[in-house]
Amino acid sequence: MQVHVSSRATAAVQLTSLSCRLVGARCRIVGIVSPESALDDLADTATVMSVNASYLAELVVTARRHGMGPDDFRLRRIDCVSEILSTAVRDAAELTFGAPVHDNFGLTEAIPVTATSCSAGHLHHDLASGHVEVLDLHTGRPAHAGDLGTLVVTPYFPYRECMPVFRYDTRDVVRVPHGTGECEQAGLPGTSQILGKAEQLIHLASGVVVTPRDVVEAIETLPGQSWPARFKATPEGDRIGLCLTESAARGLSRSGLVEHFAERGLAVSVTVVDEDQGPALRPVRSDLHELAFPAPVPVGA
Ligand SMILES: [Zn+2]
Repeated sequence: MQVHVSSRATAAVQLTSLSCRLVGARCRIVGIVSPESALDDLADTATVMSVNASYLAELVVTARRHGMGPDDFRLRRIDCVSEILSTAVRDAAELTFGAPVHDNFGLTEAIPVTATSCSAGHLHHDLASGHVEVLDLHTGRPAHAGDLGTLVVTPYFPYRECMPVFRYDTRDVVRVPHGTGECEQAGLPGTSQILGKAEQLIHLASGVVVTPRDVVEAIETLPGQSWPARFKATPEGDRIGLCLTESAARGLSRSGLVEHFAERGLAVSVTVVDEDQGPALRPVRSDLHELAFPAPVPVGA
């Protein structure tokens, strides 16, 4: 298993490496290194990859640039955790790496309580390791079917032996579905996928609430395929003031961009900024580069 979450996520990395030891699998903790270096390692022996959504996006872009495809990898499964994984990036990752991508949920504060995605696009929460509630963002009461709510998690003893937390409010927003039907995990309570952080919801004057996932999904289907999406979205009356980078906007005129978002239910006014402003618009986990020691300076240089 090759692990591409930040090496500073010590709890998650520790759990992953212990799990690998239990099943006798080799575990390679690589972290957020240069995508080229990560692909070199991946192309070797890894059959499972654990990765953040933004770094997966970088790996896909880099692999495509180098003409790499499914025949270059031995991956059987990709486990994606944290951040919003768009349909466009997930589909591209599955094509490029030739392995299914599972979009899971977990956060250090609530470890070991996690959730896994099913083929119907729900997020199913593990009842055995903790108590998971979906609470209304304003009243703190249980959210109703169709409403947005924040995931509130209480890990159980003995899975959580130190630093107990009670009703930890993640501020990760989901929508409560009207039942989850007959999917393969129907026995477990399900919600929508994570839609973004509560403080990043966009409240329009019309009363409509736009989630960060709505915006990420729309941006990452732009023809420029500038992944991971870098943007800033703010309410401007009934519209979203959307700031994009040049590479994201590439290939479409200003009116073409507005039309692209309108087709996805988003009324926007677009501003385009220089590429180097991207990371400041929306920091992502793959920005947490882990640098190696530089090569020693040759004698006499
Ligand atoms: Zn399901």
